Amino acid sequence: MKKLMAANWKMYKTWGEAEATARDLVDLAASKLPEDREVLVFPPFTALKAVSDILNPVDGFSTGGQDYYYEDEGAFTGEISPVMLADVGAAYGLTGHSERRHVLGEDDECVGRKTAYGLSRGLKVILCIGELIEERRAGRVHEVLERQLRIGLGGVPGDLDPEQLSVAYEPVWAIGTGEVAGPTEIVEAHAFIRKNLISLFGKKANEIRILYGGSVKPDNCGDIIALDNVDGVLVGGASLHGESFSRIVLA
Ligand code: PEP
Repeated sequence: MKKLMAANWKMYKTWGEAEATARDLVDLAASKLPEDREVLVFPPFTALKAVSDILNPVDGFSTGGQDYYYEDEGAFTGEISPVMLADVGAAYGLTGHSERRHVLGEDDECVGRKTAYGLSRGLKVILCIGELIEERRAGRVHEVLERQLRIGLGGVPGDLDPEQLSVAYEPVWAIGTGEVAGPTEIVEAHAFIRKNLISLFGKKANEIRILYGGSVKPDNCGDIIALDNVDGVLVGGASLHGESFSRIVLA
C-alpha cells in the first residue's frame, strides 16, 4: 500500500500562484519520489484544471476536489459535481473536512451522502473525521469517531474497492494550530478507526488507507508517517509552499 501524501490548499492561491506552486513541487519532489509514495493536491476549484495539467502527467502525482455535491448536475447554485471534478482531471474528492463540518455547517448525513455519491461516480474519496477539543476532554473520542464513520460510510456498498476509499483522522484541535497530536493519541485513534472499518467492510479494510492530519510539518512528518496504521498525511498550512510540502512528501 503506497503512503498517500496529500495537500489541502483550502481557499488559498490564485490560478497563477497555484500553477507556480505545482511546478515547484514537481521540480523539487518528482525525480526523488520513492516507489511507495503517492502525492495528491487539492487546489481551489478555480485552479484545479491548471494544477491537474501540471501534476497528472507526472508519475505518482494526482489532484482532487476539496468538496462536491451529491448530484451530477441541476439547480444547485454554487455547487460542483463529481462529474465536473473528473472533467478537469481530479481523481479524488474530499468529504467531511472539519471546516466543512464546523464552519460551513455540514452534518454527518450530508457528509455520508457526499461520500457514497462520489464513490459511486468513480472518485476516490477521502473521508475526514475527528473530534473537537471539548469532546476529547469529555472522553468522547471513540463515540465521535464511531458515529462519523458509521454515518459517513453508511451509504457505501459492502463490495467497495478498498483502494477507492481513505479515511483522514484530523483532530479538530490540531488543525492549523501548530499543536500536533502525540504518537500515542495518533496510534490509538488510528487503531480504533481500523477496527471500525473492519467491522464495516471485513478484512479488506486493512487496505483502506488511514491518513493523519493536523499541523504536519517537514520536521514531524517522518515520525508520524512511521507510526502503526498511518498510511499517509493530509497537510494544510505546510503544503502551501513547494519547498515545505516537498520536504514532507520525501520525509
Ligand atoms: C487540514 O486542513 O486538513 C490540515 C490538517 O491543516 P494543517 O496542516 O494546517 O493543520
